[in-house]
Amino acid sequence: MKCPSCAAAAADGAAECPACGVIFAKFEERRRREREAAAAALAQASAPPAPLVDPQLGRTVAVVLAAGWVLAFGYFIFKDYRRRQALREARLSAAQAQFAAPVAVSTAVSAHAVIVDAAGNFSTPSGETLAPPRR
Ligand SMILES: [Zn+2]
Repeated sequence: MKCPSCAAAAADGAAECPACGVIFAKFEERRRREREAAAAALAQASAPPAPLVDPQLGRTVAVVLAAGWVLAFGYFIFKDYRRRQALREARLSAAQAQFAAPVAVSTAVSAHAVIVDAAGNFSTPSGETLAPPRR
């Protein structure tokens, strides 16, 4: 047989190499462990990498973020609706105030103005009521 370490000739069944002194059984055992370690390292290197974030946690965070967006957007829509409603009511009450006090508005414009109220009645700034004109 040949020594697996130095390739020198050795007697068949010998326990160690006469040239380099390696013990064949220990040499083979070391080679076997090295092959196993190399195979394990290769398997680890070719395995898919573990995900950075746990998928379950990722889904939970996504759902929470989506719910937060929906709530924030809904709140914004609600606030905008309330703001527009308040604006509309303010405009309406301002318009109603003008109708409620036509004399004051009208005398500011002209002392000779004829006022037509919302009901279609005519009046003068002094408070005199006039009949609607005939058609
Ligand atoms: Zn040898």
